[in-house]
Amino acid sequence: MKYILPKHELNSLLERWSVGHAVLAPQKVGAYTEFLPFGAQSELCLEEPHNTRFPPKALFFPQSEAILKYKRNTGQLENIEVEPEKRIIFGIRPCDAKAVALLDTVFAEGENQDPFWLARRAETLLIGLGCHEPCATCFCTSADSGPFNTEGLDALLTDLGSEYMVELLSERAAGLFDGLAHASPAQQKSAQTAQTAAEHAMPKAFELEGLKEKLDRVFDEEIWTQLAQSCLGCGVCTFLCPTCFCFDLVDETQRDTRVRNWDTCMYRVYSLEASAHNPRPTRKERTRQRLMHKYSYWWDHAGKLGCTGCGRCVRYCPVGLDIRAMIRKAGAYESEVLHAN
Ligand code: SF4
Ligand code: SF4
Repeated sequence: MKYILPKHELNSLLERWSVGHAVLAPQKVGAYTEFLPFGAQSELCLEEPHNTRFPPKALFFPQSEAILKYKRNTGQLENIEVEPEKRIIFGIRPCDAKAVALLDTVFAEGENQDPFWLARRAETLLIGLGCHEPCATCFCTSADSGPFNTEGLDALLTDLGSEYMVELLSERAAGLFDGLAHASPAQQKSAQTAQTAAEHAMPKAFELEGLKEKLDRVFDEEIWTQLAQSCLGCGVCTFLCPTCFCFDLVDETQRDTRVRNWDTCMYRVYSLEASAHNPRPTRKERTRQRLMHKYSYWWDHAGKLGCTGCGRCVRYCPVGLDIRAMIRKAGAYESEVLHAN
């Protein structure tokens, strides 16, 4: 089902949704955009050519969260239950919705399902906004996705100038657009044209076909030392990545609480073992882990690429390390060596 939403009616639609849902939408905070609760005074920021700086995974998997209470004296344990309100995340970009769907394979499937993630996912609808002018750091079309990819979304909006075309993608979102006019064939064609133009405007960042096998073959090569040379090990690329999910558990004994905090494989202590052995002792191994996890191990774990091409790690790395160039170099390394020999 496809509808037309005039832009001047957007705020009143979000107000209508606010009765019964918490509505979160991108808004400016200083120099950056964040998902914040929508209210009467909200000024939405929907025109940026890229997503929010902080990834929406934080709305399901917070950066720091208490998960268990205990009493050391009695050995008593008390589970912490989450009772999330119904939410609509409006204006999420396709790369980030896809990232949420990817993280479902980690937190919502298999034998170790995460009750916190499951509870929040069950109560949340994702209403996406396609990217009609992706910025230079985005590379979703090279990463098995695209600026109008629908994976993980309940509905997708395409900007047609003075209106949006809304494509309904799930039954759960069916009532949200009641009362809107249906999109005419001409409006649907305009949306299709805008989507195709956006996809075609994005240059190819690397060849995905055969990349996993190439990376697997250069696991032991020196290329990783070169790639890691200017890395500071700050972890920004992983904390802001919408698909990174490493965490650490800490017992805060002052308040008898077990807390889960985001962690990163880019830190030396992340892989430091109690024996003092560290299987990833230098930035070479840690950089290799970051890239191999996204571009090789995710295929083993979920049959999917673990990068959505959102471009955050490219935009925010303080020394300008660009994962696209790193992947190109690592992928080409084998043939360079063969050629040289
Ligand atoms: S953001 Fe850049 S410098 Fe920081 S850990 Fe990642 S690649 Fe290294
Ligand atoms: S690796 Fe970089 S481009 Fe890929 S999903 Fe993570 S932050 Fe985005």
